Amino acid sequence: HNHIDHATVEKVEAAIAVGDTHAHLPEYEDFAAYKAAGGYTKLEEIRAGGDFEAIQQELLDSGLRGLGGAGFPSGRKWGFVRAEAGPRYLAVNGDEGEPGTFKDRYYLERTPHLFLEGMLIAAWAVEAETCFIYMRDEYPAVLDILAREIKALEGAGIVSEGYIDLRRGAGAYICGEESAMIESIEGKRGLPRHRPPFVAQVGIFNRPTLVNNVETLYWVARVLREGKEILSGVEKNGRVGLRSYSVSGRVKNPGVHLLPAGSTITDIIEASGGMLDGHTFKAYQPGGPSSGLLPSSMNDIPLDFDTLQPHGSFIGSAAVVVLSDQDSAKEAAINMLKFFEDESCGQCTPCRVGCEKAVKLMQADTWDQGLLEELSQTMVDASICGLGQAAPNPIRLTMKHFPEEV
Ligand code: SF4
Repeated sequence: HNHIDHATVEKVEAAIAVGDTHAHLPEYEDFAAYKAAGGYTKLEEIRAGGDFEAIQQELLDSGLRGLGGAGFPSGRKWGFVRAEAGPRYLAVNGDEGEPGTFKDRYYLERTPHLFLEGMLIAAWAVEAETCFIYMRDEYPAVLDILAREIKALEGAGIVSEGYIDLRRGAGAYICGEESAMIESIEGKRGLPRHRPPFVAQVGIFNRPTLVNNVETLYWVARVLREGKEILSGVEKNGRVGLRSYSVSGRVKNPGVHLLPAGSTITDIIEASGGMLDGHTFKAYQPGGPSSGLLPSSMNDIPLDFDTLQPHGSFIGSAAVVVLSDQDSAKEAAINMLKFFEDESCGQCTPCRVGCEKAVKLMQADTWDQGLLEELSQTMVDASICGLGQAAPNPIRLTMKHFPEEV
């Protein structure tokens, strides 16, 4: 959905006419404002004599997990990288390409320095030689903001020139997969690597590399500045912490909604202003196309890490898309598989050929469900990376929950 209203277009045109090329930048908290409000005092304090174990423990106690999709406890990951011999690197995954996900952009366009301070604390934790920020090129405002604010950090002597290396992605979804991102940072084609070895041991230029997502680092700064309770103190439906749900689809107020991690789709629709008038809730994508589609009857599951696995789905980056009675589950599933077909890196056969084959089979009036299941299992078993392994989720969940459509 590419809605640009006329007022915005006029504003941009007027600004271009007077030579202000930064007209597209949203209002955000810049370095001076962030610093004036106490920003970077935590980093200075940590750099001056922080205790790694204590800081790691604070993060573990907060319950913070990687928010790029995998949900690995952030403090433990730091420990793994730090245990490897240096030199080590830090890479920020800002290639937010999961359809429906826009939370990293949301935070970067408002409070970029919470992210940057979190990143520099993580860099301190693993004693990183360089921080690479791999940023989605489709976010031009974010790239401009980061370029300006990194300069401000250099100017203030918080980092040396070149310590933060801002890299632009080139529009490939697969470069959000951490090992493909590392290949891309090295200047190569973004093909996922086989694991093991893991990037914590053999990452950028074969050096141990900490890969953290943008939002994860935003929370690192907040937890260490405000205390672990901002996450550990929030409990709902037996789940602890907060999730930034990117909500789109048939709701009145789409956008990023920060809610308890134990929220259900009912809570999320309510926080999004309810369903659009004339639309009845039918189905939802809980976490990007890799998570497939669930029916409206499954409305009491907390949408958190680990809670959706028993249902053949997962929360991933919490990109929730709400479908109504006016949407077709079958068409949505085909759309998801077409996306994977386009974005498969082509490196391994089960994914490259499997996605293409699946799209063809799914376009039939009646699905050959036996064959689609066999294909799905092969893709799960034999694909190198998460793209091919998760691509069958929309197929399987649509056959299970919307049999009348297929
Ligand atoms: Fe590439 Fe797909 Fe294989 Fe991943 S599963 S390495 S995207 S071909």
